[in-house]
Amino acid sequence: MAQKVILGAEDIRRTLARIAHEILERNQSSRDLVIIGMYTRGVPLANRLAENILRFEGLEIPVGTLDFSLYRDDLDSQRFHPTIKNTDIPFSINNKIVVLVDDVLFTGRSTRAAMDALIDYGRPKAIQLAVLVDRGHRELPVRADYIGKNIPSARDEKIKVRLTETDGQDEVLILDD
Ligand code: 5GP
Ligand code: MG
Repeated sequence: MAQKVILGAEDIRRTLARIAHEILERNQSSRDLVIIGMYTRGVPLANRLAENILRFEGLEIPVGTLDFSLYRDDLDSQRFHPTIKNTDIPFSINNKIVVLVDDVLFTGRSTRAAMDALIDYGRPKAIQLAVLVDRGHRELPVRADYIGKNIPSARDEKIKVRLTETDGQDEVLILDD
């Protein structure tokens, strides 16, 4: 299996600094901002964006976690339920601008599910999407507002995102077999 580094640690650091600036530039009323990381790797990315915004503007933005993955509660049944195990949104999202953060955007189905789940928590003023990698192949009319890097990929290629918090190191690789 061949693998190629697309983003190194320094690239990721600069990219997240740029996206934090873009979020601030786009949202003048940044007091209404909240950031929600999509479990798993969207969570450290969300935290880093909030840290950058704190550093750049002295603004503390609430950060939450959304886990919309499906789990089977009973191995004998084919019923799947969204898990709320790793969901933690300890603030109101009513009238807030919610920036959803994910590591990779692919078909758009996770984003759609995340927006669906979010609506159960309240009525945001707006939802925006930030992703570290957009690898294309959308199956739904979803687009990201903030993109770290567009990586045109073949359907059977995989993007590997490694982050210090979850994997001990920051890098993005493309794998093909
Ligand atoms: P989608 O729902 O848009 O098809 O896929 C996005 C979700 O699946 C994201 O949560 C992302 O973490 C994961 N994902 C999809 N494709 C890839 C990929 O190539 N690499 C990684 N690391 N995650 C992916
Ligand atoms: Mg994911």
